[in-house]
Amino acid sequence: MTARTTAAPSVSNPIRAFRRAPASRKRRVAGLLLVALLTLAISACASSSAPASSQSTPVAGNRLKVVATTTIVGDVVRNIGGDAIDLTVMLPAGADPHGFEPAPTDIASVNRANAVFINGLQLESFLTAMVENAGGDAKIVAVSDGITPIEGTEEHADEANHDEQEAHGSSDPHTWTDPNNVIVWVDNIERTLSELDPADAGTFAANAAAYKAELQALDKWIREEVATIPEANRKLVTDHAVFGYFANRYGFQQTGAVIPGYSTLSEPSAQEIAGLEDTLRSLAVNAIFVGNTVNNALSQRVADDTGVRIVPVYTGSLSEADGPAATYLDYMRYNVNAFVSALAN
Ligand SMILES: [Zn+2]
Repeated sequence: MTARTTAAPSVSNPIRAFRRAPASRKRRVAGLLLVALLTLAISACASSSAPASSQSTPVAGNRLKVVATTTIVGDVVRNIGGDAIDLTVMLPAGADPHGFEPAPTDIASVNRANAVFINGLQLESFLTAMVENAGGDAKIVAVSDGITPIEGTEEHADEANHDEQEAHGSSDPHTWTDPNNVIVWVDNIERTLSELDPADAGTFAANAAAYKAELQALDKWIREEVATIPEANRKLVTDHAVFGYFANRYGFQQTGAVIPGYSTLSEPSAQEIAGLEDTLRSLAVNAIFVGNTVNNALSQRVADDTGVRIVPVYTGSLSEADGPAATYLDYMRYNVNAFVSALAN
């Protein structure tokens, strides 16, 4: 179905209605006429631009409408979909995905979408209510589907945080901190886009192959970089438990987190803060890595108490477009460089 075929009948009806209508109705009908004419104009533009488009998208208005929740999911989707999709990224740069509350415009874009890509593993805690409200018939796809999640807390709980983390009993949603998991994302995204738009499947496959090669190169680069950090120093203390997949892949320990657990939404008790401070002192950890999506007052307090320094990293969001972590690949390079500078000596 194209815009052109739907526009034609809706133009003729308002014109006839306008001519016959009493004066009191003419203003409202004129509004309808304007909408119809705009629709006609837009479809005319789309038709005239068709020869310039690729063969697989003969009418620009036919591009898949795709929504991605976080900036990180959005960047990966953009790398696979390219110009063949019309992409809306829901969260602005710097927004905390754990605490994000969608606006009516977000619900409207989900309602119009053919596909909505979410991180999954309950990163987007707002999502269930939003999807229920949005209606529409978008295919909802969790890009993390197929990744074996880190469950519970045993991987990285210190004594003080153990009970609290166990109480949450959730899966770690931050799958993207290992680029090998993002290769799974790419497969999920490519499969979904190709099912919805088979005509562009060749483009999606080529884009996916090129991007996977970049992810493999990133993985190799990370292994080389972390090799410069003495094994005893490979300890990550963060604002919340965000780097579990990275730690498992590259031989780090998540030694502790200011907010114990996988979400930024819980609050640590005074006892938990004291326990973390003891850990920092006893293990001679020299840095707390604090993300761009949290208020860092609590981390600053722990840093002040222990003499450990705060090192800024990117966690739940990319940077603004003109910042140092505007793509997922740059986000990973930025964070690894921060780990190496803080821990290599
Ligand atoms: Zn998080």
